[in-house]
Amino acid sequence: MSNIARRKFIQLSAVAAAGCLAIPGRRVFAEDLPQLSTDDPMANAMKYTHDASTVDAASRTNPAADQNCANCALIQGNDGDEWRPCQIFPGKTVNANGWCSVWAPKA
Ligand code: SF4
Repeated sequence: MSNIARRKFIQLSAVAAAGCLAIPGRRVFAEDLPQLSTDDPMANAMKYTHDASTVDAASRTNPAADQNCANCALIQGNDGDEWRPCQIFPGKTVNANGWCSVWAPKA
């Protein structure tokens, strides 16, 4: 291997190694995500609350009796967890007892 080829090989190896360190491929868990604040503008727009029992059932678009994040089709994560990811609020977790106006029944 010539000196130039060896130098290029070392440079490319260093770049590849740096890429491996910059993208560790770590899974994100719900407990790593911040909890959605009711002060969040998006949460306000969707009338999100941490406690579904505070919402007047008659004011809901779909006035079904029991609506909360735990029984919403858009919830993610593990059943039984208090705070879980939601498809409507990416990068945040919502309270399993919460509710917002986008609530949809599970199929
Ligand atoms: Fe809760 Fe469903 Fe609204 Fe997400 S979309 S905040 S899970 S009610």
